Amino acid sequence: MQPQPSRGRISPRRLAALGSVAALTLAVCSSAGSGHLSPATTAPGAGPSALSRSSAHGPCMIGSDREVQMSEGIPTDPGYTRSTGTVRALTLMIDFSDAPGDGDALDRYREFFPQTREWFTTSSYGRLDYRPELPVPEWLRMPKSFRQYGIERGAPFDPGYRELIRDIVSEADTEVDFQSYDLVNVLVTPNAGPAALDTVLSVTFAGNDEAPTADGRPVSNASFVYSRQDDGSGSYARTGYRVLPHENGHVFGLPDLYTAEGGGAVGHWDIMSEDWGANNDFLAWHKWKLGWLDTSQVSCVAGRGSREYVLTPLARAGGPKLLFVPLDAHSGYAVEVRTREGNDEAVCRPGVLIYRVDADVDTGMGPITVHDATRDSGGCTRAPNVHAELSDATFEPGQSFVDREEGVRVAVLAGGEEEYRVRVTRTTSR
Ligand SMILES: [Zn+2]
Repeated sequence: MQPQPSRGRISPRRLAALGSVAALTLAVCSSAGSGHLSPATTAPGAGPSALSRSSAHGPCMIGSDREVQMSEGIPTDPGYTRSTGTVRALTLMIDFSDAPGDGDALDRYREFFPQTREWFTTSSYGRLDYRPELPVPEWLRMPKSFRQYGIERGAPFDPGYRELIRDIVSEADTEVDFQSYDLVNVLVTPNAGPAALDTVLSVTFAGNDEAPTADGRPVSNASFVYSRQDDGSGSYARTGYRVLPHENGHVFGLPDLYTAEGGGAVGHWDIMSEDWGANNDFLAWHKWKLGWLDTSQVSCVAGRGSREYVLTPLARAGGPKLLFVPLDAHSGYAVEVRTREGNDEAVCRPGVLIYRVDADVDTGMGPITVHDATRDSGGCTRAPNVHAELSDATFEPGQSFVDREEGVRVAVLAGGEEEYRVRVTRTTSR
């Protein structure tokens, strides 16, 4: 059936599910950063952890002084998977007696690969060499029926999930050395559980070393993908894999940017906000956090005064990418240039994107908020499942962002194919 262009078609239905997904993520991450980690998982964390607080970037390395489960702070808490270099992703396809895998398990694998690997290569400018590996190239049959695990909206590592992970480990153990992988993807047969349009069950348990163990090591960074994120718009074959880079984003320590109200805080500017529909990239803040931007590509605007900066499109490798204006020890404004290229295929108004990052706000509660340069415009996209209102949130030459209370002004002076020029004025300092 030919679907009508259905902006927002996902949102209301997914909304119902979002609460539970967010809750899952929260609970999942409840031990993030607090646990003792096995040597294999203490590899240098995601992000520019080598930076010291005394560097020029110190004031921009915001952190949390509250108990947050997953924070936007830099550096990322330990316990998550390293996000640079070669990362080996154990990928297993599982099925159940009451939901037997339909056809070849490799077809399920091909819904996500090589697309997920390519997505990360593009987004990271080649800094993340993501290697999916499938030592068991067939359906791994679980000893219990799907129904018996009781996976609906349960809390993570609730008895059902603990059992499922234990069973995956015991069924795969003869063929799989779990120690040799950096993260685990479990691609569940799509006929198990409800359609993603009704309930999104896909979930990641990240940074949790209370997880069940395999080969002496906790299965602490594992993404489960259920069902198919198929909205009937005909784009599934091209865009359906995007749930996996989203879930793996959690494995690398990134929080959810959608909230109980859906994608209204960040829109389609980050895959941690919207992973349905047209392709999108990470925000520059996330790329810095993941270690994909060099210090030299980030300017920390901490002092009082007025200064001009050049920014180049985020999708292109090299050049200055991110300005950060710290407001206090846990929050600040980020400024970057987004254009329609690379992973960003839905950008309909190229320009300067400005958003507030708050490391004290937890995953799913709105840790990042994009400022809309054209409030109540209705947006410039007609693409399905792209948050419309924020699609034209960017600032164009001649426009300025002003926060009087904080004494911050960002004026876009000029913009073109190659670069944008902005002037940041602060009447306060950090
Ligand atoms: Zn998520």
